[in-house]
Amino acid sequence: MPFRTAVRCLINPIRVVLRPSTSIRGYAAIAEARSVLEHELETIRTGGTWKGERIITSKQGPHINVDGSRGDILNFCANNYLGLSSHPQVVEAGIEALKKYGAGLSSVRFICGTQDIHKDLEQKLAKFHEREECILYASCFDANAGLFEVLLGPDDAVLSDELNHASIIDGIRLCRAKRFRYKHMDLNDLETQLKQSQSSRMRLVVTDGVFSMDGDVAPLKGICDLAEQYGALVFIDECHATGFMGPRGRGTDELLGVMDRVHIVNSTLGKALGGAAGGYTVGPKPLIDLLRQRSRPYLFSNSLPPPVVGCATRAVELLLASNEIAQSVGAKTMRFRNKMTEAGFTISGSAHPICPVMLGDARLASLMADDMLKLGVYVIGFSYPVVPKGKARIRVQISAAHTDQDIDRAVDAFIQTGRKHGVGSCPYPYLEIYLEVFNLTDFLLFCPYTV
Ligand code: PLP
Repeated sequence: MPFRTAVRCLINPIRVVLRPSTSIRGYAAIAEARSVLEHELETIRTGGTWKGERIITSKQGPHINVDGSRGDILNFCANNYLGLSSHPQVVEAGIEALKKYGAGLSSVRFICGTQDIHKDLEQKLAKFHEREECILYASCFDANAGLFEVLLGPDDAVLSDELNHASIIDGIRLCRAKRFRYKHMDLNDLETQLKQSQSSRMRLVVTDGVFSMDGDVAPLKGICDLAEQYGALVFIDECHATGFMGPRGRGTDELLGVMDRVHIVNSTLGKALGGAAGGYTVGPKPLIDLLRQRSRPYLFSNSLPPPVVGCATRAVELLLASNEIAQSVGAKTMRFRNKMTEAGFTISGSAHPICPVMLGDARLASLMADDMLKLGVYVIGFSYPVVPKGKARIRVQISAAHTDQDIDRAVDAFIQTGRKHGVGSCPYPYLEIYLEVFNLTDFLLFCPYTV
């Protein structure tokens, strides 16, 4: 027995004997934590907001294999807008970079984590977006987490769309600027907030270029007009636009003719640009220089692995070389949107490849998504709290890699499952009622029907 414990035993023997040992206290703490966590998990399950993860056993693409489902599954829920995730040239570039530069840098950028390929990719991205400079991050989440704190201080103000991405919200929480939240895409409300924040030194209007739940495009022209009128800067998050919005795929700023009026752009390498991982900020040189000095996710996190840099660089090169790839998803998107609308479904958003099939009811969205998978089409139902209550939907994402036949198969599957659940226009309304009465609606899933 250690000397100190022996002395304590002599002074107060009963207390020492009754006091639980360190390991018992440790077990009790773990048991307590387990019970708190189990309770929290149960709340999520009973609240119906549990997010399961399907396991894919093939590479990303329009046709995938999913654990537990037989055969080829048609995939309509990846952000693989241009089909570059498995593009042979992109994959090859990743392999070459892996061989030449190794698996990773085991370092942050400013210690010994900057290779020539990092600088090259930054230059290409700056050129692609027609901005002065670029800085890479491990993700766009990090780019959003690292920007506002560096740019804005307590004398400044940030004006943010209420439906901005979670990473923007978190990034803004980390900065000390005054916060103003304007109603979703509401220019009148933005103007009110600009008036209210007039005493601030610097003001930044912050918006997603495209909002991922609805596929709706921010009114950037109006935002830039107001920002110029009130002397504010404009920031956009282009994760769901880079590579395919606008004639050359530069993004929503190109689509809406305001490339020279939007000051800062954050985007991802993890969606249209090859889909591996990584994010970046492009904008004025002094801002990018300051981010390299002060931005915490950049300073304190490993630099992007060479294969990831190789894949993204090839994707950007393909887009810089030709506008055809940027244009390749538009016609497919309109085919899906038009056929679904003809079939009586409501598709939110405008011409964006995010096509939310609006259903309203959360259970219906989840049941229909399950039934779609039975027909070999993988789509995901979204409900509260990811989208507002009563606005549950199945979000379909079109990729340039989908063929017309893939799209038609998805529309057919929607019509069949919709018929089972009473959504869309049914060509055999009486049949549906009979089957409902005799509890045989599953039969509708297998009714041959073509649009
Ligand atoms: N911003 C938006 C609008 C997004 O949709 C996402 C990803 O879902 C991110 C940022 C984060 O991007 P990344 O996956 O590169 O962290």
